[in-house]
Amino acid sequence: YWDQAPRAANPSLAAPFDINAVRRDFPILAERVDGKQLVWFDNAATTHKPKSVIDRISYFYEHENSNIHRAAHELAARASDAYESARKKLAKFLGAASEQEIIFVRGATEGINLVAQTFGKKFIGAGDEIIVSHLEHHANIVPWQQLAVEKGAVIRVIPVDDSGQVLLDEYRKLLNSKTRLVAVTQVSNALGTIAPVHEITALAHAVGARVLIDGAQAVSHLRVNVQALDADFYVFSGHKVFGPTGIGVVYGKKALLEQLPPWQGGGNMIADVTFEHTRYQPAPARFEAGTGNIADAVGLGAAIDYVERIGLENIALYEHALLEYATHGLKSIPGVRLIGTAHEKASVASFVLARYETAEVGKALNDEGIAVRSGHHCAQPILRRFGVEATVRPSFAFYNTCEEIDRFLAVVRRLANNRK
Ligand code: PLP
Repeated sequence: YWDQAPRAANPSLAAPFDINAVRRDFPILAERVDGKQLVWFDNAATTHKPKSVIDRISYFYEHENSNIHRAAHELAARASDAYESARKKLAKFLGAASEQEIIFVRGATEGINLVAQTFGKKFIGAGDEIIVSHLEHHANIVPWQQLAVEKGAVIRVIPVDDSGQVLLDEYRKLLNSKTRLVAVTQVSNALGTIAPVHEITALAHAVGARVLIDGAQAVSHLRVNVQALDADFYVFSGHKVFGPTGIGVVYGKKALLEQLPPWQGGGNMIADVTFEHTRYQPAPARFEAGTGNIADAVGLGAAIDYVERIGLENIALYEHALLEYATHGLKSIPGVRLIGTAHEKASVASFVLARYETAEVGKALNDEGIAVRSGHHCAQPILRRFGVEATVRPSFAFYNTCEEIDRFLAVVRRLANNRK
């Protein structure tokens, strides 16, 4: 198939940046697995880090390391400047109105739990309703279930159609005056579906509900502007956007954050403490108790610089071509069933292969140095919606190429031919 692939579908011809230079920026891409050149198609699980991020973290520990905001010395000033400058970059990256709307957390999971423990504790009560979509990662299901059990609230689920796209008409029917929160993913990690979060948010606001958008799979693929989306909360993990692990972001509208109680108590989040009473800092410090992950916040700032240099628009264009190329290739292999065929998709192909366990496919690919995820992708409800417990999930980033996809397709084709 790929010899005759249309030129327009060949991403190496379409890359709007120097793909070889980009690949050299990521040292791990030169890694070999059992003598074979590594192909990293597990970007939805985590992305690799460019040298500029690795160097920025080393520089922090070599020249700036200190706790922040707490001392009068030079290194405290350098560390605080680096940390706060990362916060500014994140605010700009998300289109936030102010850096005070950016809270550093460990990742998307912690961010969603933060919102559940603050907004949820304060504004969701018995009989209130929380809407999620069928596409959600467990991280955007379990914290709401825990809250619902505690408060006597009810979870409602927006169904999806057979392509894996959310059904807006069904969603409209779920909204009512008891809806307090709509928590939805912007991009599905299991299928790649891009959900219409703009419409979802507007409809929620029309009934007075707040909206949390899980952007864990979105920010590395699409330009996001939280003000244009009118999101009340937006969360993501740094490690999925070429930054370090253990750092992520909660965006929250300032006026809303100011109404929320803190969720963890300790240093950094207080204005004044006596044994009788504590006054808290305003956001974001109110939600950042204790010593945070300073170096990795700075590293995430460097990752954002890198992504912005390439340009999210260029990234989206190129990755779309990669996804099309892979999808065309997979469709041409007998026995492949694609799961998730929505028109709007980002960088994830999910499939099962007839007469194979997904783990067998994953292993055969690994034997050729190709890393994909095979399993339930922490999104069991959506896979079960399609009658499967697991899929094979190649997921692409802008440093991948169609030559790598060719290597991947050759393995899947060989497996298909072996068990007809
Ligand atoms: N939400 C989505 C859509 C995800 O894909 C993931 C991770 O795979 C998460 C949330 C949780 O992210 P983390 O494990 O980095 O907290």
